[in-house]
Amino acid sequence: MLSLTKVLLGFGLVFQTNAFVLQFRNPTTCCSLLGAEFQGDTEPKVFSNTPLHASEYESLSTYWTPAARLNATCIFTPTDAQDVSRAVRLFTRKNCQFAIRSGGHSYNPGWAGITNGVLVSLSKLNTISYDPETGHANVGAGNRWTDVYGALLQHNVTVLGGRNSDLGVGGYLTGGGISYYANDRGWATDNIFSVEIVLADGNIITANRNEHKELFRCIKGGSNNYGVITKFVLETVDASKPFNAFAIGYSAAANPEYLSQAYDYCTGGSDADPKSHIIFAASISKAAGFANGLLVSYSDVFDTANPAPVLSPFFDGTIPGMTAMGPLSANGTIKIATDLLSFVQAPGTRYAMGTFSVYADAALFQTMRDIWEEETTTQLKDRPGFMTEFAFQPIGWKWLAASAARGGNSFGITKPLVMVWVQPRWDLASDDDIMVAYTDRVRIRCEQAAQAVGKFAKFRHLNYGGRNQRNEIIPSFGAANVLRMQVNKVRYDPLNVFGRLVPGGFKIPGF
Ligand SMILES: Cc1cc2nc3c(=O)[nH]c(=O)nc-3n(C[C@H](O)[C@H](O)[C@H](O)COP(=O)(O)OP(=O)(O)OC[C@H]3O[C@@H](n4cnc5c(N)ncnc54)[C@H](O)[C@@H]3O)c2cc1C
Repeated sequence: MLSLTKVLLGFGLVFQTNAFVLQFRNPTTCCSLLGAEFQGDTEPKVFSNTPLHASEYESLSTYWTPAARLNATCIFTPTDAQDVSRAVRLFTRKNCQFAIRSGGHSYNPGWAGITNGVLVSLSKLNTISYDPETGHANVGAGNRWTDVYGALLQHNVTVLGGRNSDLGVGGYLTGGGISYYANDRGWATDNIFSVEIVLADGNIITANRNEHKELFRCIKGGSNNYGVITKFVLETVDASKPFNAFAIGYSAAANPEYLSQAYDYCTGGSDADPKSHIIFAASISKAAGFANGLLVSYSDVFDTANPAPVLSPFFDGTIPGMTAMGPLSANGTIKIATDLLSFVQAPGTRYAMGTFSVYADAALFQTMRDIWEEETTTQLKDRPGFMTEFAFQPIGWKWLAASAARGGNSFGITKPLVMVWVQPRWDLASDDDIMVAYTDRVRIRCEQAAQAVGKFAKFRHLNYGGRNQRNEIIPSFGAANVLRMQVNKVRYDPLNVFGRLVPGGFKIPGF
């Protein structure tokens, strides 16, 4: 670890360097330079919104939520790490701004998109292979989980990936990644064995627990701050047993028992049987009113009439007023469950997101939901397409231990907590600001309520961060982790290319 003085000297270098390069190159010029760089390649790799490339440009410009869409000056589709390296060298040399996108599921405009600059779309970094000798999967950073699950199931294995299979591999893994196996295996990011990453100087290196190990740790929660990750080597999980997932609904009348069971699961349930996994999600819409919901899974044989004891209260009538039980996968596979969820959470709708965490407290769960209900006014409910979700899920001891056993990450979580998120959905672009403001109000009032009873936990999950949480996510990892991230930022990106030239995303303080 560098001394603090050296770190500060490093910052000095960064700031001085920034002072000399405030003018970014005209983005149209950058696109022309990029076009010229890749002109000799067999397939076109640079697409502008011109009559010649209008259809490619349009299909490459889609994001899961249209609320996050920006129109880049041009879009670059590298096919391997060398392409990424050539482009990053050019961007650095010519001072061109760019964005990096894997699956484009970020909720926030500008995180994986850009208006005046080049969008680097990783969708063609889509190789997938399995090595039975090591038990590792090699996964290109532009894949979607559906393809990864499909390819690996042929070998009876799977990996820790999205609960919605349409998510991209790159953003999900660099932000943490909550998978259905989290209670048993920790964060998905901790199940990365190694990464191939293109650094700001264009060098392509491998980082893992032995090589560039400090960088490797920082990448786990480091999002797009250190480079473009082009490949992940992932630990796999045995998938010979069936996988089960269910979406269950209960009426509002179930509230007390629902919250009491949620509290029990958050304070021991997830540790008692780490094959289980639950998201507690309530929703409000004008059409359906208030509903309590669960997304529950079990990574083994499962019988709804005789479930694993820890899940029994959610199936056996202990919680009254079950209104629906939809199997996403009944003794099927992770691919079936996650594909079905991606169908339910289909792209094309406007969404916002906000997140924080608390320490489990039954009364606080109720207070937070009261705040959310109170802020969900009749006026909001009348907006076209409005629906809102308030969700939480625990991170227990076994999750934390599994992550620590794999070398740890940047998150700084030292004891169990409950992640909370609020997520509205709506139709009209003209309502974007109203919905983002609503999300922030619910989040901030809930945080204050948690602080008032001493139950506020500092951690915020990067993948669920909202657009107004840009300066809150990485600082929530704690001072020691932020310092480590800063030290390695100076070491691996001394000119702050991935802060200065990549403006979007959750950034490391000072960069
Ligand atoms: C419907 C839905 C369901 C979700 N479910 C889950 C869930 O179950 N668990 C969970 O943890 N999260 C979940 N999320 C959140 C999701 O993990 C994040 O939105 C994540 O960023 C998606 O990854 P992506 O590759 O599609 O992201 P993108 O939008 O492509 O990128 C997100 C950020 O990561 C950066 N980035 C992407 N790839 C790279 C790379 N290769 N190198 C460097 N930087 C990169 C981008 O620059 C950007 O800032 C969900 C989101 C949605 C919309």
